[in-house]
Amino acid sequence: MARKMTMPATGYRLALMPQTRKKLAKAAPKKDAGAGQTANLLPGFEASCPPSSARAMRHLPPDAHIPDLQKTLLDWFAVHQRDLPWRASYTPYEVWISEVMLQQTQMERGVSYFLRWMQRFPDVATLAAAHEEDVLLLWEGLGYYSRARHILAAARKIMAEHGGVFPSDPASIRALPGVGPYTAGAIASIAFGEKLPCVDANVERVVSRIFDVDSPVKQEPAAGIIHRRALQLVPEGKSREHNQAMMELGALVCRKKPLCGVCTLAAFCISLHLGIADQRPVPGKRVVIKPVNAVTGVLRVGEHVFVQKRLPSGVWGNLWEFPGGRVETDETPEQAAVREFMEETGFEVRVTANYGTIRHGYTTYRLTLHCFGLELASPCEDAEAENIPEGCPPPPQLTAALKYRWATPEELENLAMPAAHRKLADSLFSSPAETADGHAPSTLRHAYLSKTK
Ligand code: SF4
Repeated sequence: MARKMTMPATGYRLALMPQTRKKLAKAAPKKDAGAGQTANLLPGFEASCPPSSARAMRHLPPDAHIPDLQKTLLDWFAVHQRDLPWRASYTPYEVWISEVMLQQTQMERGVSYFLRWMQRFPDVATLAAAHEEDVLLLWEGLGYYSRARHILAAARKIMAEHGGVFPSDPASIRALPGVGPYTAGAIASIAFGEKLPCVDANVERVVSRIFDVDSPVKQEPAAGIIHRRALQLVPEGKSREHNQAMMELGALVCRKKPLCGVCTLAAFCISLHLGIADQRPVPGKRVVIKPVNAVTGVLRVGEHVFVQKRLPSGVWGNLWEFPGGRVETDETPEQAAVREFMEETGFEVRVTANYGTIRHGYTTYRLTLHCFGLELASPCEDAEAENIPEGCPPPPQLTAALKYRWATPEELENLAMPAAHRKLADSLFSSPAETADGHAPSTLRHAYLSKTK
């Protein structure tokens, strides 16, 4: 059941920063940022306060009303929180895994990854004993593979240095591999009740709007102000609920386009009262997304294709891939595919098919991957080396990989691959019945089939 807003008590002492005071003084109640957003936008919500024109400025600033704000938010969370699997028991292990996964994916997808992960690695001990390849395979599709490697390293550290028990003090949590200030704050507060803030992008947005932080949020002084304000808002003994409530409000209500008309914190929000909620948070410099033009080649011999495991360093460290690399300015993609194969494996190959291009977006660049079918330039004698299938050449001279494999399409499914290479493998080898929604096989698959019949 939705709660009605409890208006804060009056009679506080004005304690605003001077520039905010000036803005408030100038601000006649402006057009209501959330007036057009009705209760029906979110099921179960109803407008929690009257339009801003009817709200009195005397309910600001929030400093004097922090206890009211905290209670209002906790009451809202008690009613509107989503039913998420890690909220059943709040074990530190589950909180940790969910927080790291959710830093890089949407909630719905994060839940499915989380459930799959917990089925395979239900506790720290099971995870610590796992092979890195199994961990990377389960992480495949989430990106930022160094996080998966850090999680494995942290699990092993917990086993080695903490007797398999997740450490509860913030300093020890922070000392685990890959655990930064945000993740440490989330685990310490949500799993162990420490009075610490969790400032993720959602909380950053909520705090910057409530307190009208008017400089770029990723930089100082705004970053420090937001952290201090977020800490100031955490109520004694309720950090688990409060921090999740802040994140939940940011995810469901105080979104990029804020739904102020249904927001339980509307009466406390300076940006709303100034009519500038949509101008907060102030963004920093835009990241320039660079285009990257690359090639990859699928060398097939009989039923097997050649794949290699990348070196441990770099964003795709230890993942399996089809060899390839960037297209140089003075060559065609076909020429690049042949050259890259020679440089990375010593195999002389020629192009037999053009499988088209795959486009994939990353944080700082946009990849256009030209994909080709390849064959050996000259037939080879049967290699006698171990693990080399019939008809495949002798071992390659690897220059950009740890090891290689001649894999069947079925075996590829069990190798962790970067997203673009997984897309290519799926397009080539998934049977029509396996493609999503029963769609016809992709163009890439048609090209592969026509060359391999
Ligand atoms: S906290 Fe966000 S959604 Fe709520 S009133 Fe302020 S800007 Fe609007």
